[in-house]
Amino acid sequence: MINQSKHGFVTNKCTFKKFVFILLVLFNTSSYAAKESVESTHHAMDYKTTRTLINNIRSNKLDYLKNATELTIAFETSKVQNWGQLHYQAAALYSELLLREEKYDELYLHVNHYLDIELIQKQPDVFLSLLESKIKYLSRQDDGYPAQSLSKELEERLLIESSTKGKIIILRALAYYYTSIDALKSALKVSHVGLELAIEDEDFSSQGFFYRKIGDAYSVSNDKEKALEFAYKAVSASEKSGDGHFTSKAYWSLGNALLGRDKNDEALKYITKALAYFTSVNMHEGMAYAQYSVASILFSQGKYDEAIIGAKNNISLAKSAGVFDMQLASMILVSEIFAEQGQLQQANQMSDEVFTILDKFSRSLYKAEFLTTHYQLKRRLGYVDDAFTAIEQELFHYKKHFEATSASNIKTLQVKFEVKEKEDEIIKLAHENKINELKAKEENQQIIIWRLTTALALMLVLITLLLFYRQLGQRKKYHAMASTDYLTGCPNRRGIMLMAEEQLKEQDITIAIVDLDHFKKINDTYGHDIGDLFLVAFAKAAKKTLREDDKFGRYGGEEWLFILNTTSKSTTKGIYKRLAENFANYCIDVRAENPQVNWSITFSMGATICNSTNKETSLNDLIKHADNLLYRAKENGRDQLIIQSSSKA
Ligand code: GH3
Ligand code: MG
Ligand code: MG
Repeated sequence: MINQSKHGFVTNKCTFKKFVFILLVLFNTSSYAAKESVESTHHAMDYKTTRTLINNIRSNKLDYLKNATELTIAFETSKVQNWGQLHYQAAALYSELLLREEKYDELYLHVNHYLDIELIQKQPDVFLSLLESKIKYLSRQDDGYPAQSLSKELEERLLIESSTKGKIIILRALAYYYTSIDALKSALKVSHVGLELAIEDEDFSSQGFFYRKIGDAYSVSNDKEKALEFAYKAVSASEKSGDGHFTSKAYWSLGNALLGRDKNDEALKYITKALAYFTSVNMHEGMAYAQYSVASILFSQGKYDEAIIGAKNNISLAKSAGVFDMQLASMILVSEIFAEQGQLQQANQMSDEVFTILDKFSRSLYKAEFLTTHYQLKRRLGYVDDAFTAIEQELFHYKKHFEATSASNIKTLQVKFEVKEKEDEIIKLAHENKINELKAKEENQQIIIWRLTTALALMLVLITLLLFYRQLGQRKKYHAMASTDYLTGCPNRRGIMLMAEEQLKEQDITIAIVDLDHFKKINDTYGHDIGDLFLVAFAKAAKKTLREDDKFGRYGGEEWLFILNTTSKSTTKGIYKRLAENFANYCIDVRAENPQVNWSITFSMGATICNSTNKETSLNDLIKHADNLLYRAKENGRDQLIIQSSSKA
């Protein structure tokens, strides 16, 4: 397959793709109409309006060409009014406008005039912008020397320039210049640096410009995926600016990148967008580029008639606009359409025409790619000598292209850039991680605070409960204390009365009152302390004597109240007897410890049986009854029990 080029293109309807052009520096506009109307009317503009307009265009919020009239008035007014800094800023913008309007002669005079002003050199942004315009102008000239020496000057200025904005302007100018001389390596290098600064500076218009340059470099080095990726980036960055010119160039670039990936419909969408802008500002060069792409798509869709009309129209349009790449590309497209339809002679005629003006192509690559098609056509026609010449020249231009671009160097730069991109991604990721970490920390702190609060609340509840129980305990203790006799530890009058009342309700009982005999005498003879010892001894004896369901308490002084869980006289008598024995024994202990005491103490008991016959009688009356019986026991000589069922009161 000798008719296959390096990129695998064969002579068929897809051949047009080899001319997926990179939008070059020579892409400018010519909209004279607006300017002429301005000059004839000379409207004036007040200072504030002028300043606002200048600032908006400077920050790419407004489009140059869409505001060509206003910008021209602003420049003229600021010049007439001699508005110092504003005048010079307007002059810098005006130079870019002239460039976009393709008024090169006027541009040259304008730029040189302002660059000579000493004051301007003290305004770096204005000065550098004028230099950028100047190198764009010089890049178009046949004599390459002035542009080259200005590029050297810009490279030196780049080293000493300190401001980001200044650096961006220089890098933009250099990228433009390097592209114009097809120095892809250098163009890529400065574009990468420029892109970083433009991102840092949030300068979307310049970002779009540099992304486009990088994407175009990928396209030239035939990395179609990357070319597409960067073309998308160029579009999204440009769309954030108000710079319709750069945005439309990005659309066009993206359209071509999509064509390179056979995405014709999407390509057409972007190319149409670009065409709409270029047409609206009457920018013939832009129109030439976009219309060429449209014709190419029509060709790929098999719409040969429409495609050939479009391509033929574009030849003259591109020629008059000075876009020779597009002029030649359109001619090649026409030739290809003829060839596709089998009209080989017409195809050959057009191809020969291109061959004679081949030097008008800006890039060796374009020349080489044309020569591939040219060679294939000559082969088909059997023109061996012509085919040989074509392949000879094709090889020469490919060699030149690869020397100029050095694919390996471009790859290195691309890899470097990708590494940088990865690093940025990592930094971004690290940043996000940090944020997440902080978020987690905050959440953690919230959890801790919440836990602390909960813990504190819980503690508060616990303390409250503790205090409550303690109070409850205290209350119980006080309650117990209030019902307990301090001396003997047995229930006091209050305690035993409560018990008696309860017991009386529940069952039949015997209530007994005990009084120690001649107790007063003990106190009188041995003192109160000894008396107390006998009281304690009696309590011990009572405790020892009684079963669990019998109760007793100190009713007062040396009187005791017994509640016996029985209605049997003999049981009570038995209790009395055991109580007397036990008491006597404890008294022996008291005497053993207090030898001076020589006293056998006894007690008397009155007991009343409470059953159904006297249950309604009040406790007090029952006690009174028992007390009477006790009194009788005392009367009877003491040391005895008198027991009776209580008579109804
Ligand atoms: P009787 O046989 O008639 O009961 O004669 P008695 O001396 O016991 O007479 P009474 O019951 O009137 O006297 C009670 C005495 O008990 C009076 C009081 O000094 C004494 N007494 C009352 N409470 C206490 C006490 O807590 N400790 C001491 N040591 N004596 C008390
Ligand atoms: Mg008494
Ligand atoms: Mg007594």
